[in-house]
Amino acid sequence: MNIKDHIRGVPDFPKPGILFYDISTLLAHPDAWQVAMGRLAREVRKFQPDVLAGIESRGFLVAAPLALKLGCGFVMLRKKGKLPGKTIRHDYALEYGTDTIEIQENAVEPGSRVVVLDDLLATGGTLAASIELLRKIGAHVTGAASIIELNFLPGRQRLKELDVPFTSLAAYD
Ligand code: IMP
Repeated sequence: MNIKDHIRGVPDFPKPGILFYDISTLLAHPDAWQVAMGRLAREVRKFQPDVLAGIESRGFLVAAPLALKLGCGFVMLRKKGKLPGKTIRHDYALEYGTDTIEIQENAVEPGSRVVVLDDLLATGGTLAASIELLRKIGAHVTGAASIIELNFLPGRQRLKELDVPFTSLAAYD
């Protein structure tokens, strides 16, 4: 099965000139989603995680079923102000301005092996910020993965510079 057959490209979303890769169609197709999660589970298992971290919000959809498959814990990396209790945050630069992600202070035991998941890797800014946040709380980030990867942007290079191996199911040129 070709996973790309179940991913929709939506032109001019969220802005004119942007082609948005939409996993809604993959999620809505139970056989294709099952295959996608099976393939990603095989790759992510190689990073030998104790915990999977999902990036809000589509990263949750990827990380939660994989965590069940692999018998790992699942933790949420969320936008500012969404998580209860004491949190640790990391600010990072966007094209225009900054953004912040947070994790609960004790979500991950120091030294735990963590793999970070999102739906798509573009410039790598979001995954890089997540890795930096996880490192702040003492996690050992052994890998990162997504369903989709955009080859024409420097995401993979960015993760390489952080020394984090990366895998995806579908790459677009
Ligand atoms: P990056 O930080 O530039 O790598 O962008 C990746 C983040 O933006 C991820 O959290 C994605 O969910 C989101 N994103 C960027 N482009 C797309 C797209 O075409 N489809 C779905 N999500 C996207």
